[in-house]
Amino acid sequence: MNNKKLSYFKVIFLSSILLIVVFTGCIGEEKSEEKLLTPEDHLDQPSILPDWKNGAYHDYYSTMQMINDFNDDFPDLVDVFSIGKSVTGRDLWCIRLTNENNSEAKFSCLIDGCMHGCEWEAGEACLYLAEYLLINFDTNSTVTTILNSAKVYIVPLVNPDGRQNDDRFNDNGIDLNRNFDVDFGRLKGHCVRLGKLFGRIKIPYLEFPRLGLWFTNCGRHPFSEPEAQAMRDLMDDHDFSFYLNCHTTTHNIMSPWGVYKPPFEVANSEKHVHDYVKEWVAENTEYENTPLSYYASGTVTDWCFKEFRIPTFTFEIMSKDYEPMAGGGRHDHLVHWMKTTLPVFMYFLVNVENLHNWRTPDIQPLLPDGVPPQPFH
Ligand SMILES: [Zn+2]
Repeated sequence: MNNKKLSYFKVIFLSSILLIVVFTGCIGEEKSEEKLLTPEDHLDQPSILPDWKNGAYHDYYSTMQMINDFNDDFPDLVDVFSIGKSVTGRDLWCIRLTNENNSEAKFSCLIDGCMHGCEWEAGEACLYLAEYLLINFDTNSTVTTILNSAKVYIVPLVNPDGRQNDDRFNDNGIDLNRNFDVDFGRLKGHCVRLGKLFGRIKIPYLEFPRLGLWFTNCGRHPFSEPEAQAMRDLMDDHDFSFYLNCHTTTHNIMSPWGVYKPPFEVANSEKHVHDYVKEWVAENTEYENTPLSYYASGTVTDWCFKEFRIPTFTFEIMSKDYEPMAGGGRHDHLVHWMKTTLPVFMYFLVNVENLHNWRTPDIQPLLPDGVPPQPFH
């Protein structure tokens, strides 16, 4: 074979390769065009979980950063505003999640956390839920329906001073979850109306171990504390369909009453819904349906139920073994605990209309793989 023939072969060979590349490229393009998803297909995507790391807890400042980032990244879904100030002047931030481009009438609901400042996971669960809803909007039909039909108000840190001090109480030494106007300040509800002694000295609680007695400082009068006032005003200004108040660590879900002297008898229809929800949680998650083991005066859920007659619950996340009570508790396995809360939140959200109307909340939420996680003890 001479050089000229060799060049011919080279040209033909290279041209064939070029043609094959172009041709298969076209087929590839056609194929990928065929794979383009319709809007309905988009909504069929399984939901994904926030990419959180164990140990990455959010204090007041990183919580503020996170919710402002949500606002920047999802401006059509997020609204951020302050509902009031703490004793030391920190803002109580509220995030409202909804599809702002959909102006249909919607149900509003309220979820909050960290009313006891040492109960970090209660605030984290609120942030985790917010991120879960935002990253799955417009790809997952369950989440998309929620944000098209509801306004989800979330206050992750009701007690920002307590969160910074890792302290159950606010900066006046008052238990905010005893400062609401329902059977207020009753000794049998384990409360004393001390406030700040001489206007200066904090007395968070009194314990008499030999007598087996303990009392929490609930403030001198209902709504003496700015954080409780802010929550009261938020609820007064909105027609919430349900209220979920998150705490740690008794690992259960509870509904009114916790007070010693209930202001009225719960109606059968209300009891049915409260019981149905608690049983659903007990059957579908690792959390238990157990009542409070003592009387508690002036809690926010009792007050909210008394005032607005909406379904209200205290959701105590995390394990009983972590025992933080007044602060300095163990904070561990963050991602696990976040995953345990998601089924409860999603169950409430898909049933927002049922809850609003005191109808049986029997809609099952579709959850991502790995949720709820296997319990570990
Ligand atoms: Zn608590």
